[in-house]
Amino acid sequence: MTALLAVSGIRKVFGGLTALDGVSFSLAAGQILGLVGPNGSGKSTLLNVLSGIYTPEAGEVHLAGQSLRGRAPHQIATAGLARSFQNQQLFAGLSVVENVLVGRACRLRAGVLASIFATPRFRREEAAARQQAEDLLALVGLGWAVGASVQRLSYGQRRLLEIARALASDPKVLLLDEPCAGLSQSEANDLAHVITRLKVNGLAVIVIEHNMRFVMGLVDRIVALNFGQKIGEGTPAEIRANPAVVAAYLGGSGHAAH
Ligand code: ADP
Ligand code: MG
Repeated sequence: MTALLAVSGIRKVFGGLTALDGVSFSLAAGQILGLVGPNGSGKSTLLNVLSGIYTPEAGEVHLAGQSLRGRAPHQIATAGLARSFQNQQLFAGLSVVENVLVGRACRLRAGVLASIFATPRFRREEAAARQQAEDLLALVGLGWAVGASVQRLSYGQRRLLEIARALASDPKVLLLDEPCAGLSQSEANDLAHVITRLKVNGLAVIVIEHNMRFVMGLVDRIVALNFGQKIGEGTPAEIRANPAVVAAYLGGSGHAAH
């Protein structure tokens, strides 16, 4: 397998607490990886390390063969790694399509002066970005809402908008932290369909989710964490049959009961 994302030996310590302890895995283009584990097992910390918010004490992350060591979050976003946060802020004063365009900002080449003077290059970029934003909204099922105010969207529709915004940066890898939180089962199904569609274009996705029905039906592979260590990796069927994973869940927070 050629790894699009290669994560090796990640260690992250907070004070006396080892939140991640030598975590390694890799991800190919077009793959969906589920990241599971009890509360506090280090899942969000791992995404924060991948996106450059935390600097690990040890370990390496390579994206398309390039080391991300020492890069700031915006540089990592430009390199092709996008994320939607557990509680991401949408801009209530902007329309739905404008919120998607915000996600494009890191790709605009024309610069601030060009935008002030509305040069032809800026206008071309702007028109192309708007078309792309509308296409992304159609992809996530929000094509009807392009010009609408964000306030008109339901909670589940806002989550889809956050994903469209993350996709506007043209990522190679998309990181989703508990995208189903607060969604109804039917909204979660819609989200699963959207994520499956992204795969076709070669996008790789890492998704943290407690909703096991969602995870098991969606992902190609699962990495299971417990107390910052990888305790299992495999297909959904392999993970379901992995005694260490089953024990961690049964002894843990009870989240697996979903
Ligand atoms: P998960 O997402 O799997 O629930 P987290 O990655 O959020 O777990 O947390 C892993 C561990 O690291 C927990 O014990 C948590 O309290 C701790 N932790 C996470 N972020 C910080 C931080 N910024 N400062 C101190 N401790 C943290
Ligand atoms: Mg978390």
